[in-house]
This record gives sequence, C-alpha cells and structure tokens, in this order.
Amino acid sequence: MNYNKKTVKDVDVKGKKVLLRCDFNVPLAKDGSGVITDDNRIRAALPTIQYLLEQGAAVIACSHLGKPEPNFEKWAKKQAEKGKDASEEKWQKSLKELRMEPVAARLSELLGKPVVLADDVVGPDATAKAAALKPGEIMLLQNTRFEKGETKGDPELAKKMAGLTGTDGVYVSDAFGAVHRAHASTAIVADYLPAVSGFLIQKELEIIGGALAAPKRPLVAILGGSKVSSKIGVINNLLEIADTIIIGGGMAYTFSAAQGGKVGNSLLEEDWKDYANDMVKKAAEKGVKLLLPVDTVVADNFAADANSQVVKAGEIPDGWEGLDIGPETVKLYCDAVKGAGTVIWNGPMGVFEFPAFAKGTEAVAQALSETSAITIIGGGDSAAAVQQLGYADKMTHISTGGGASLEFMEGKELPGVACLLNK
Ligand code: ADP
Ligand code: MG
Repeated sequence: MNYNKKTVKDVDVKGKKVLLRCDFNVPLAKDGSGVITDDNRIRAALPTIQYLLEQGAAVIACSHLGKPEPNFEKWAKKQAEKGKDASEEKWQKSLKELRMEPVAARLSELLGKPVVLADDVVGPDATAKAAALKPGEIMLLQNTRFEKGETKGDPELAKKMAGLTGTDGVYVSDAFGAVHRAHASTAIVADYLPAVSGFLIQKELEIIGGALAAPKRPLVAILGGSKVSSKIGVINNLLEIADTIIIGGGMAYTFSAAQGGKVGNSLLEEDWKDYANDMVKKAAEKGVKLLLPVDTVVADNFAADANSQVVKAGEIPDGWEGLDIGPETVKLYCDAVKGAGTVIWNGPMGVFEFPAFAKGTEAVAQALSETSAITIIGGGDSAAAVQQLGYADKMTHISTGGGASLEFMEGKELPGVACLLNK
C-alpha cells in the first residue's frame, strides 16, 4: 500500500466547503445522559479543524457515534435474539442516545466558537445548513450511521454527502480509527471529491507506515494480548519485517502448550497450537529471533486479589493460570528492547487491569520509555495500558485507532487510506 498521501497542506481550501470525516466515536456515560466520559478523540481532531478554518474553509464535519441500527426490523430482530422486547419507542430512544448533540457542544467549547448541528446527515436540514455555511464556520452532521447506506458503503449516500460541499468541495479524512472500513463516509465518498488526509492520519501513516516500510533497525516487535487467533495476521506480517519478535500475554500459553508445556488453566487455544509451532519454525527459517516467556506469574483464580506465585514456563501446576510474565522474562524482554532502532508494541504482557498482574506490562512500558528507539503502540488495550500506567508521553506514537492500527500492522490495505490522493 502506498502511504505517501496528499494532506490538507497540498490542496487549496480557501473559500471552499470541506467535508471532514472525523473519529468522534467517543465513550458516553452508560446511563444514557449523553455525558462524554473521554473527549480525547475530539481533542485529537482540533489541529486539522483549526487549520482548515484558518485557511478560510467552511468545514462540514461528520462522524459515526456508537452502533445505532437505522433499520427497525433488524433492530427488533437483534432485541428478540437477546430476549428483550422491541417497541418502536425503545428503538427511537436507542437512536436518540447516539445523536451528536453532546459532541457538537464539546467541540464548540474546545474550539471556542459555535458549531452548527444538523438534524440529519444528507436530509433537508443538513443540505440547507451546508449551503448557508460561510468560510471560517463549522457545522456537524448527525451520526453518519443513522443512514442505512453508511456501513454498506452505499455510493448514493456517498454522492449525497459529497454534494453538501457544492461544486468545488474537498474531502478530508482524519478518522484514522475508521480507515479500515469501506463505509460511505470513510472511503466511498472519495469517488466524488478530491480526497486528502488530515494531520492525524498523516502522522499515523508517517510513523507506522514508515516503521513497516523502512524501519530503523533493529526492529523489535512485542506482541501480547489475549489470543493468538486475533493476532495471527500481525505475527505473520511482522515475521517478514522484524529482527526480533517477543511474545507475551495470554497467547504465550498456546505457544508453550504447543511445545509440550503444562499450562494449567491458562488461556489456551487448542486449535492454534500447530499454528504456533509453524510460527516458531518460520522465525527460525527467516533468522528472526523469537522470544517466549521463560517464567510466568500464576494465580489460583482470575481475580485481582488471587493468590499468586512465580513458576517456570511450561510448568504451571494444575488449578493455576498464568496472568503475567515472570521476573526472568521481564529481564530478558527489557534487554531485547535495549539497542532497538524501532519497537512496535501490540498487546499487553498480562492482565494489566489487575494491579498485581500489571508488572510485566509496566516493565516493558518503562523499558520503552528509556530507549532512544522509535516506539509505537498499536491496539486499543495496549494504548489504554500505556496511558493508565503513566508512560503515554514517553512514547513516539500511540495510535489513535485500535482496529485500524491492527489491520495496518497486518499489512492489509486500509480502504480509508487507499482512497486518498497519492502525492
Ligand atoms: P490490544 O487491544 O492492545 O490489541 P488485546 O485486545 O489483544 O490487545 O488484548 C488485551 C487483553 O488481553 C487485556 O484485556 C488483558 O487483560 C488480556 N490478557 C493479557 N494477558 C493475559 C493472560 N495471561 N490471560 C488472560 N488475558 C490476558
Ligand atoms: Mg483489544
């Protein structure tokens, strides 16, 4: 995939209407009150928005929020499957809870200027408000997923969205968190407008794309998290690129079991044992150093206050489960990071949500913070772990897209990037 894409700096937007796809999919309070519990995604979009407004563009921002189901029949069917009743009124309420009002309000506060909110996505209200929008002004469309065509990548919907910009509009994508989806507003719309990236996507492409295409070596990849099955694509792709691959987290036990180790009650994917062995073989063939845990912290149950002890990898007693890498492994992994040119980290080393089992993850975070290597964190939980442990500002880059960064590291083409103009 070509990562060298035109950005907002490569196009003239003065006096033009810009359709800006953002990732405003912020977490909301569970009580349906519309309170935004973390506004980082809105803050992250500010540099691109401010730049466009300063350049004299009229900005028509849009985003999805949560997973509304715009088709009543489908919604009712899903409710029925969950054994819940499905009235029209309840459906309307579920949609209302995902309206963009809270996002518009927060965005307005952060920008210090009014944000016009449309009542629909491409309906009469959005059309009228877009037509009246002046240079230096910003409006926000309603939740793009209120339109049935959004997740289907419907060209008719994309065309209508593009049409909101008049005759000489521009499409800017800054929603890195959604670039792995070929939805109407994330990719298909680029068929109808000149399309460039905002600053957020530009940074993701430069840093992650750069590390994958021409890494500063040695490249060390640290892979953890819960399952082998969700990381196969990443392991496979990084085996082609990395000099060293470090395996931790829950998936290490499948590797251990595949080599004949005893893993007790640890997370184990029986069906992936052969695959784990293949990976070990492939690494050896390619001359990639593959490091597996040599010891592990085991618990007598999956709980924050479980009893724990350190045992050798592959020697987990019955009734115990591995929840973190052990101290010898921590030493081995931290040594492997020293002297790296680039470190890509995806997946925590243990159940970091329990403080007693966060030591491995924390030690790796600390090791990364102390290297002079380019350090890249991908994956939603890994980003959360680094933030929670207080190392966020010590990393070169924490990806803003969980699923998108995973697919990026798998070497997959990202539709929301592929659709942008090449430089
Ligand atoms: P990311 O979102 O960064 O890609 P994953 O979703 O693959 O990461 O994995 C994160 C989860 O893996 C965390 O919730 C963590 O608790 C879990 N995990 C890590 N190690 C273990 C383990 N040994 N046993 C069970 N779960 C684990
Ligand atoms: Mg995750």
